[in-house]
Amino acid sequence: MPISNNSQNPGSSLIPVYRPDLSGNEKAYVIDCLDTEWISSIGIYTEKFESYFSNYVGCGHAISVSNGTVALHLALHCLDIGPGDEVIVPTFTYIASVNTIRQTGATPVFVECNLDDWLIDIADVERKITSRTKAIVAVHLYGAVCDMLALRRIADAHRLSIVEDCAEALGSTLDDQHVGTFGDVGTFSFFGNKTVTTGEGGMVIANDKALADRLRKVKGQGQSLDRRYWHDELGFNYRMTNICAAIGLAQMERIDAILFRKRQIGALYRQLLQDCPVHFQHIQDNVVSSDWLVSLLLPSKSDRDTLMKSMRNRNIDSRPVFYCAHQMPMYDCGLAYPVSEHIAKSGISLPSYPALSDDDVAKVVDVLKSCAGFQ
Ligand SMILES: *Cc1c(COP(=O)(O)O)cnc(C)c1O
Repeated sequence: MPISNNSQNPGSSLIPVYRPDLSGNEKAYVIDCLDTEWISSIGIYTEKFESYFSNYVGCGHAISVSNGTVALHLALHCLDIGPGDEVIVPTFTYIASVNTIRQTGATPVFVECNLDDWLIDIADVERKITSRTKAIVAVHLYGAVCDMLALRRIADAHRLSIVEDCAEALGSTLDDQHVGTFGDVGTFSFFGNKTVTTGEGGMVIANDKALADRLRKVKGQGQSLDRRYWHDELGFNYRMTNICAAIGLAQMERIDAILFRKRQIGALYRQLLQDCPVHFQHIQDNVVSSDWLVSLLLPSKSDRDTLMKSMRNRNIDSRPVFYCAHQMPMYDCGLAYPVSEHIAKSGISLPSYPALSDDDVAKVVDVLKSCAGFQ
């Protein structure tokens, strides 16, 4: 894998937040799809990608879908979540975790996050459980991992399902077990800026065979798995194409190298910024993070948006972290979530793609320090 500078980006010295690494068999496999005319959702790459993926994460079943959002919707739908149900979800998350709950007809019930790791606050989960609660959506933001053992205990005690939104956490483990395998269902995204990309794409994993069969059936229009054009339940067309799966397989073949470099980059940022008044997302000792996007909180006195603009003027791109879902007009529940609001206001993500050189990382840090007045 070429780990290089920005030379593939002629005419621009901008360091973006993300660039996919497509330097392996991606092109060859896509050309194979075109040459063999298997360009739709049937084909060998779909099967190969799914089995590579399930082996990699250590889960019995992996079902490819067309993006990470429909992966969540399919999971919630197949756990029989619908109108009248409540689903607990952190307010600090990407909006897809929340929209897909609403799409089933259920009500998202927001919980706080922890100040140190920015993830679902277990004590608040317990406070928000009612007789209508049906499931918990745990989101492993930026590659950090939620306290799955505590969530499992709570879910078992109250007979709740757990969906793990692992869109940002492919490669993340807790006690050497891959995320997505603690809950009933795990979902992944392969959008262009995710650790493994297929352009647009997603995956749903489950260990339970009956649930996996249902997921596979419902993603294909509810068609019986052994009787063609027999549709005995509501379904959707959430299928991934063989072309996307071809890219995904080539990406999975190099996932260890991609993760290795991303973790080196994460460690380098932490080292170079250790004396600065910033707070990186905390990673628990028994967790290995995917280091999807290296993210940190700026000191509360700093003006984040002005800082990002001045970094951009010096050719360094960065991203604000997500706004909270309860801050959106359609999800305003009248409650305050001070920790989540604080993180949403002061967090930024730095360039985190595997082709960044050590010099690139040092340049990002220099520009950040100078624009933030850290030196
Ligand atoms: C990217 C992402 C999704 C949605 O994935 P898409 O493939 O873009 O639909 C869902 N949840 C989280 C936390 C994400 O980061």
